[in-house]
Amino acid sequence: MSKKVKVGINGFGTIGKRIAMAINKQNDMSVSGIIKKRPDYNAYYAVEKGFKIYAVSEKEAEAFQKAGIEVRGTLVDLIKESDIIIDATPGGIGETYRPLYSELDINVIYQGGERASVAEGSFNALCNYDESMGKKTLRVVSCNTTGLLRSICALKDLAEIKKVDAVLIRRGADPPEIKKGPINAITINPPTIPSHHAHDVKTVLPWVNISTAAVVVPTTLMHVHHVTIRFKHNIKKNEIIEILNAYPRIIMVDSKSTKIESTAQLMDAARLGREKGDINELVIFEDSITIEKNELQFFQAVHQESIVIPENIDAIRASLKLAQKLESIKETDRTLGLTKRLY
Ligand code: NAD
Repeated sequence: MSKKVKVGINGFGTIGKRIAMAINKQNDMSVSGIIKKRPDYNAYYAVEKGFKIYAVSEKEAEAFQKAGIEVRGTLVDLIKESDIIIDATPGGIGETYRPLYSELDINVIYQGGERASVAEGSFNALCNYDESMGKKTLRVVSCNTTGLLRSICALKDLAEIKKVDAVLIRRGADPPEIKKGPINAITINPPTIPSHHAHDVKTVLPWVNISTAAVVVPTTLMHVHHVTIRFKHNIKKNEIIEILNAYPRIIMVDSKSTKIESTAQLMDAARLGREKGDINELVIFEDSITIEKNELQFFQAVHQESIVIPENIDAIRASLKLAQKLESIKETDRTLGLTKRLY
C-alpha cells in the first residue's frame, strides 16, 4: 500500500505502548502521535522511539515542556492528524472521550476496560472480523475474554457447543502497578457468578451458553483459566489437538517434555527469544487436555499485557476496511512474529 493510515494513540501505558510498537511494524499504518498524561519514563521511551507526543490539553503540556519534552499539540490536534484513534486509556476513561471523538467524526478502537456500549461492536479477530468490517467504533475485548474467545472459536466448528464453563484465576496487577493487590489473599472477584467475563464473551459470540467464575491471586505474570466445554456430540482427543495445533494465535505447551508447568516458567521461556518476553498467543497446556465422551477440559494461560495487541492491529484494518479477515490476521502474525512455538 502506498499511503499508510495514520493511527493516533490516546494512553501510552501497558497496552498503548505495545500497540504503538506493533503499528511501527506494519506496512499499511503508522503512528501519527501519542497522548501522554504525565512526563514519566514511558514519555522518554516514546521520545526515544521517535513518536510525536501530544498532551491531553494545553494545561497538561506545561509539565512536558518543563521536563524538556517537545509537545506537538493537544488531543484535538492529534485527532485531526489521524485517520483512527486507539483509545488505550484506563478502563472507564475512554467513555469520557467518546463525545469528543464523535464530534470530530473519527474512527475509534476502544479497549476491554470500557463498557460494551461504548462502541458499535466488540471485537475479536478470529471470531467476528467480518461482522466488524466498516464499523466506525470497535472495542477490543479484555485479555481474559480474548483468551476464552480464542479457544472457543478454534473449537466451535468441530461439533456444536452445548455449554462452556470457565474458572478464571486472574493476576492481581501488571508488573509496574505498585498500588494494586491483593498481596496476601485470594479474592473472589467479582463475587457474582457468572462473572462479567461470560457476558463479555457474548458481546462477540451471542449464541454461546457460557458461565464464568473468577478469583484474583497475588501474581503479576499471567492469568490461568480452567475451561470445560461440553459439545453436542462425543469428541476425540486427537481431533482437538489437531485443531489447536493448526489454529492461529494458539501455542500448545507440553509440560512433560518442556517441564513448563507454571506461568513463571512460561514467562521465563518467553524471555529466551521474544521481544519484551511478550506472549501474544494463547497458551494451552497440552497434557491438561482431558476428554470424557462429549466433555473437554483443559488449562490455558493468558499474558494479559500482550494478548490483545494483534487484535488491535486487526481491529484497525476491520474498522477502516483495509483488508479481509485472513489477509489481516496473516499479516499481523507475520509482522509481530506470532508462531506456534514459545521460544
Ligand atoms: P495503563 O494504566 O497501563 O495505561 C493507561 C495510560 O493512559 C497511562 O499512560 C496513563 O497515564 C494514561 N491516562 C490516564 N488517564 C488518562 C486520560 N484521562 N487521558 C489520556 N491518558 C490517560 O492501562 P492499561 O493496562 O494499558 O489499560 C488500558 C486499557 O486496556 C483498559 O481499558 C484496560 O482494561 C485494557 N486492557 C488492559 C490489559 C492489561 O492487562 N493491562 C489487558 C487487556 C486490556
